[in-house]
Amino acid sequence: MREFFAYLDRALSGESLEALEVHLEECLACCDKLAFARQLDAFIKARLGEAPLPPRLEERIRQALDHA
Ligand SMILES: [Zn+2]
Repeated sequence: MREFFAYLDRALSGESLEALEVHLEECLACCDKLAFARQLDAFIKARLGEAPLPPRLEERIRQALDHA
């Protein structure tokens, strides 16, 4: 799940970005997860504007997603 947020933040590059994109083309489960992560990301950004999330809140959301 972590790499989806990195992907959304354009923090992935080179081989990891390529590998993820190739994987997404053939893995429906990860496509779903990415769509969910994207929605959550958009929701959070719409709510909080460009202000960064409080570190603990962000960490808790990411942990919840990792366990989903
Ligand atoms: Zn997958």
